[in-house]
Amino acid sequence: LAKLKGRNQVFFYDQKYTNKNVHSHKLELEFSDAMFNQDLYLVFQPIVNLSSNTIISAECLIRWNHPTLGEILPSSFINELQRIGKIIELDVYVFKSALKHLKTIHQLTGKKFRLSMNVSAVGFASAYFSSVVEEYKKEYAKELEYLIFEITEQTLLENLNDVKAAMEGYRALGIQIALDDFGTGYSSLSYLHELHFDILKIDRSFMLKKQSSSKSLIILEAVISLARALNMTTTAEGVETKAQLSKINELGCNNGQGYYFSRPFSFESLIEMLNYEAKEPLDSTSSDSVKK
Ligand code: C2E
Ligand code: MG
Ligand code: MG
Ligand code: MG
Repeated sequence: LAKLKGRNQVFFYDQKYTNKNVHSHKLELEFSDAMFNQDLYLVFQPIVNLSSNTIISAECLIRWNHPTLGEILPSSFINELQRIGKIIELDVYVFKSALKHLKTIHQLTGKKFRLSMNVSAVGFASAYFSSVVEEYKKEYAKELEYLIFEITEQTLLENLNDVKAAMEGYRALGIQIALDDFGTGYSSLSYLHELHFDILKIDRSFMLKKQSSSKSLIILEAVISLARALNMTTTAEGVETKAQLSKINELGCNNGQGYYFSRPFSFESLIEMLNYEAKEPLDSTSSDSVKK
């Protein structure tokens, strides 16, 4: 199959196809090239505060403009980078990039805007990633206070002590910590018990569909009030419709993120949007004004 597809094709996206060694080696080289050539870059998806109807932050999402495959999404390469032990390099790359972007945002808009970035669970608790954060704390002291690390549930409990220690270190620098995709792991509640998060991101599988049962609504409601009782800010992911927006608003969710507001877009567009927002405050108009 590999041969049929031609020499320049990249196969690492689908493990079942190929000889893993060739495949990992190729990914490793391409990944290093991509970081070097700036083929890896961030796009930004606004996060909207539901009570003020303003964009308070944006999530940085990685994109790879691959020389032969074009733009590829993280779902095609994150797991593979994890498998070949390169994920921490991505975490470091995104961290540095996020800080630089934050600095530019603050300079160009004068707003107390935050950026949220995804950190792999491995990277989060690693000595290497922590040391890079530490290294940047002098030059970027102010920006770190506007940075949020999002981590997912999967592997956090495996090295709980390291995760706890890392969290304390990051928090001491002003970085906030969000638990991403809440509700998709199988021990979600243990995480809330063991670790303190500033923000709870409710997975998009909780967004109610038209045919949703009253049971789904009860669960969503319970998650939001649980988060509130534990002093966490809630962000609903995957808000796609006006009906979903009204529902999470009604249930007291703090923030929303999703296609209803905006798809992820370029840094230039983010700056434009923030400067536009400064002149034309969103809270004086309907929620449709943030829809892109
Ligand atoms: P995530 O952190 O939960 O990010 C949200 C994902 O949902 C993004 O996909 C976003 O484009 C998508 N999304 C946003 N709004 C909607 C919506 O209304 N409907 C639907 N169906 N989807 C929506 P994306 O960019 O493909 O990223 C997928 C995942 O890859 C992320 O999920 C995150 O876990 C991971 N990821 C992305 N960037 C990075 C990164 O820089 N580092 C690491 N370690 N992981 C990353
Ligand atoms: Mg995320
Ligand atoms: Mg998420
Ligand atoms: Mg998600």
